[in-house]
Amino acid sequence: ETRMPRPDQTRVMVVANQKGGVGKTTTTVNLAASLALHGNRVLVVDLDPQGNASTALGIDHHADVPSIYDVLVDQRKLSDVVQPVRDVEGLFCAPATIDLAGAEIELVSLVARESRLDRAIKAYEQPLDYILIDCPPSLGLLTVNALVAGAEVLIPIQCEYYALEGLGQLLRNVELVRGHLNPKLHVSTILLTMYDGRTRLASQVADEVRSHFGQEVLRTSIPRSVRISEAPSYGQTVLTYDPGSSGALSYMEAAREIALRGIGVHYDDSRAHTVG
Ligand code: ADP
Ligand code: MG
Repeated sequence: ETRMPRPDQTRVMVVANQKGGVGKTTTTVNLAASLALHGNRVLVVDLDPQGNASTALGIDHHADVPSIYDVLVDQRKLSDVVQPVRDVEGLFCAPATIDLAGAEIELVSLVARESRLDRAIKAYEQPLDYILIDCPPSLGLLTVNALVAGAEVLIPIQCEYYALEGLGQLLRNVELVRGHLNPKLHVSTILLTMYDGRTRLASQVADEVRSHFGQEVLRTSIPRSVRISEAPSYGQTVLTYDPGSSGALSYMEAAREIALRGIGVHYDDSRAHTVG
C-alpha cells in the first residue's frame, strides 16, 4: 500500500444533488472519514438544516450549539463553531442546527449573501487538506454559498430509476455560479452510490451515467450496504463502525481514487471492482 498523497492546497468539495436520499450525507461523512484515516486533515461543513452529517459524526448539534448558522448569518468565525470528531484523528465538523432552516430566508436581505461561507472558509486559520460541504436537497442560497466557496462539485448518483433526472438543473446552476461568482467551479467527481451489482438496473444506470459524464465518474462505486445505513444511529461513520465491511472498503477506495486524481495520477482500475 502506497502512502496517500496529500493535496498541496486545500481542496474544497461541494457534495450536491438537489434530489434527497441519493447519498449526499452518507458520502460526505464516509469520504471525509476515509480521507482523514488516509492521513489528511479534513473539515465537514454541514449545510443541511436536518443536521444529518453532524449526527452521523457524533457531533452535538442541539439548538444552543454554535453552528454554521452563526457563521453565515452573524458572521461568527468558523473556528468558533468547528468541533473535532471523536474516534477519527484529523476529522472536524462545523455542525448544523435547526436554526439553519431559517437561514435560507434570512440570507436574502444580507450583504454578500452568496459569499458568506466562502469568506468564512478563507478566514479559517487551521491548515486543512480537504473541506467537504454537505448540501441540502435544494438549490437555494445555502447551496449557492457552497458553490461559491468550493472549486469542485461532487455529485452522488443513486443507481435507481430516474438517476439523471433533475441533474440538468444542478449543472445549469453550476454554470451560472461559475460564470458570475466563481470561475474555479467545476464538476470534478461523480460517485455511483447504493450500487447493487446483482441487478440489471444498477448496471444500466451505471452505464448511462458513464456515457453521459465519462471521465468525472469514479471507477469505484459504493455498494448498497446495511452497515453503511446502520452506522449513523451510533453517531459513527462506517469506517469506525465496521472497518472491514464492503461499505467501509469502498469509501476508503473512493477516497484513494479522489486523492490520486487530485495530483493527476492514473488510477489503477483493477482495485475498483474488487471492493464491494
Ligand atoms: P441525502 O443526504 O442525499 O439525502 P443520505 O446520505 O441521507 O442521502 O442517504 C439516504 C438514505 O440512504 C439514508 O437512510 C442512508 O443511510 C441510506 N444509504 C445511503 N447510502 C447507502 C448505501 N450505500 N447502502 C445502504 N444505505 C445507504
Ligand atoms: Mg443529506
